[in-house]
This record gives sequence, structure tokens and C-alpha cells, in this order.
Amino acid sequence: VSPLLPYAFFEGEIVPLESAKVSIATHALQYGTGVFGGVRGYLDVSGQCINIFRLSDHLDRLLGAMGLLRMTLPYDRPTLEALWVELTQRNAARSNVYYRPFVYKAGYELTPTLSGIPDQFALYMITLGDFYTKGGLSVMVSSWRRISDQAIPARGKITGAYINSSLVKDEAKRLGFDEAILLNSQGKVSEASAANIFMVRRGTLITPPITADILEGITRSTVLELAADAGIPILERDIDRSELFFADELFVCGTGAQVTAITAVDLQPIGLGEPGPITQTLTQAFQDVVTGQRSAYRHWLTPIPLT
Ligand code: PMP
Repeated sequence: VSPLLPYAFFEGEIVPLESAKVSIATHALQYGTGVFGGVRGYLDVSGQCINIFRLSDHLDRLLGAMGLLRMTLPYDRPTLEALWVELTQRNAARSNVYYRPFVYKAGYELTPTLSGIPDQFALYMITLGDFYTKGGLSVMVSSWRRISDQAIPARGKITGAYINSSLVKDEAKRLGFDEAILLNSQGKVSEASAANIFMVRRGTLITPPITADILEGITRSTVLELAADAGIPILERDIDRSELFFADELFVCGTGAQVTAITAVDLQPIGLGEPGPITQTLTQAFQDVVTGQRSAYRHWLTPIPLT
């Protein structure tokens, strides 16, 4: 069965997904001038509602990247949120879902520019369980470098920038790895193809700073907050490539990835070659939070009743 859910928001209304189509002349299709998001909704234990995880933070990031790409929409924040609710209820999936919001340059302008081209907002949904099906990933250090903030900013989800992720993921899969870690143009560790990275050394949780050519991941900030609350020391600093091999634990995190251990880098086992204790603690904490089992973090969930 297709994971795509039957209805989408397109050009101002909810329509069947098959009729949400753009012209081949669309600017965003030609030049990658779009910004997108990736948001999860978790079916509540009651089965009666979907809890959207950190919707407001996802909207903040989307709106930030829209500013960079000189985009404007006729919808304000409350309208976008209301739309989310309406589409969720229309699709009425009783499963975990993934939302793909997309703001794109919808005009047919031939010049690769930004200003003065009309924008559109679209939203579609798929059902999504675990993105990585293995408990521990075997990764390589990519031969590709992360795009630099001086060329294409990585901190927002810019459509065209995902050529970089596609090259990286494809290389990793062709060489038999699950994922790859990218170094940035300074040679420091940045992130994986579509997830942020964390390292544990001597009990301290370390992750590259948001100036390391990484996406400003919402799961990354979630993990930092959960770790701080659990009393785990945290450091945001540059990570050398060679440090990966000195790590006690490594993991990636993201909306799709959730929290997933890396158990080998370039075929060298990390730690004991299995998910370590801090990774396991944070994987569990994250699962508890998104499924609404930690009341202190319920403010991160937007419940949408399904009936
Ligand atoms: N980095 C990249 C390049 C990504 O595409 C993603 C997935 N959105 C992430 C990190 C993780 O970000 P988030 O936790 O906001 O999903």
C-alpha cells in the first residue's frame, strides 16, 4: 500500500493528491527555489488523536527560510496551523504520519532570481513508521563536503540544497553503508545526509554548533534539552573527523531518523559496536516524549482529534 495519504493542500484548497500538480515551467522545479519541512504526527495511545510534534518550531524554521528566499504567503501562522488540523482530519489516518509542507516559487519566470515571483504553499502527508529499520547504523565519512553557508545555507530546508544530501546518501548506499557523515568545508564534522549527529566522549554529549553548516534540527534541540534535563553534560563544539574513532557512542537524530545509534564508521566499530547507554537513554526519552508519556514536555505536542 502507498504511504501517501489521499488529500493534499494545494493552491488554496484541499484536493485529491492526484490533482495537486504543477507545470514543468514552475520556477521551483527548474531552479530548486523552494523551502520545505518534515514534521511528524504520532498517533496517540488512545488512537483518537494525532499529536503533532513541535509544529510551532517547524513553522519558525520554515518562515525563516522563506525570508531568505524572499517568499510571502497569503496565510498567517494561525491559518497555516488551522490548515494542518483540517488536512489531518480529512486524511483521518489512524497511524503515525509525516507531513511535508512546501513553499515554492510558483511563477514561470525564466531568470534564476527570487523577488517578484509568486509563491505557493502546499502540504501533503504520508504514513511513516521508523525511517531507519536497524537499531545501529553502519556509516561512512562521505567523499562529498557539506554545502557552505557562503554558497547555499544549510540551516534551512532549501529544496535545491538537497542535491548535496542526495549525492551523499546515494554514494553511501551504493558502497553498502546505511548513511554517511559529511565534513564541512573546514573539514569538521557537520551532519548526516538528513539528520544531525551527536557524539559521546567520557560521559559528555557533544554536537557541532549551528555555525558548522548544519540544518538547525528540531530533534537536535530536543535532544539537547532532554539531555540537559537528565543531567548529562553537553557541549556544542566542532568535532574533528578523527574524533569519530575515539567516540564512546555516536548517534544521529532527526524527524525521520528520530534517535538512532551509529555503531560503525568506515567499518570500524564505535564503542562496543552496539547502541551505548547514553544513546539508549535518549532514544527512550525521545520516544516517551513524542508519545505523550512525559507530562513535562506535553507542550511540544499539538493534539488533533480524529473524529
Ligand atoms: N539535517 C538535515 C540535512 C535534514 O534534512 C534533517 C531532517 N529535517 C535534519 C538534519 C534533522 O532535522 P529535524 O530534527 O528538524 O528533522
